[in-house]
Order: sequence, then structure tokens, then C-alpha cells
Amino acid sequence: MAEKYLIECDCKTVKISMTGEPRVRGFCHCEDCRDLLKIPYHAVTAWNEDQVTVEQGADSLLSYQHPTLEMKRCFCKDCGETLFNTNAMNWRIVSQNLVRKCYAGNLPAALRSQSHFFYGSRIVDIDDDLPKHD
Ligand SMILES: [Zn+2]
Ligand SMILES: [Zn+2]
Repeated sequence: MAEKYLIECDCKTVKISMTGEPRVRGFCHCEDCRDLLKIPYHAVTAWNEDQVTVEQGADSLLSYQHPTLEMKRCFCKDCGETLFNTNAMNWRIVSQNLVRKCYAGNLPAALRSQSHFFYGSRIVDIDDDLPKHD
């Protein structure tokens, strides 16, 4: 049985599931994630388009195409929470922090970060034991 994860936005209008193993799980320090989301780095789980299903509230899930990046923010029109963003490969990037919130503060072990990437572009240094890739 493939693992299935269920997440929802703050107002619980939009519910989304992710099935199987994420393509990537890690901390992304790239400039694009910073620009898209205004965060110092992005704790990501990355999924193929067909692994992610809108289970409820599709009418309330809007997307905004960034003016210069090949990335979209997909968010709930009622509470504004970003459920995922997309990248140039059309992956679905779900924040580990959103999953953690939906799992009562406990990120499932199979979704935890395995590495840092684009670490050379970082704006904060991270002192942990995970491998760090530029
Ligand atoms: Zn909402
Ligand atoms: Zn990034």
C-alpha cells in the first residue's frame, strides 16, 4: 500500500492528499524559493503532479503565476494559505511545515529532510549533520 498523506489549509476548505514517496525531501536554499515565498529557506517535500490530489475545495484553490519565475503559488482563496507551489518541472512542492501542522506537530518520518540543496545560495548557515549540496 502506498503511503497517503492528507493536508488542509487553515480554514479547512481545501484538502489535499499526497501519495507514495516524495521525489525530494530537503531544505532548499535557492533564491527562487525565497523570492516566491519570502522565507529564508524552503523545507520541501516535492511530488509529481499525479501524486497530488485535491480531495476537497477545488473551487477555492487559486493559483498565482509569479511574474518572472516559472513558479506558481497555489493557495486557498478563503484563508490565503499556500497549499503548495509549483516549479519549472511542474512538481508540486508542499511545505514540510504545512504537513507538520496537519500532523499535530509531528512531521511523518518518511517526509523529513535528507539534505540541504542550493546551500551555496543560502542566507542563513545551518548547523546540522545533513549533507549540504550547492
Ligand atoms: Zn483555507
Ligand atoms: Zn528552492
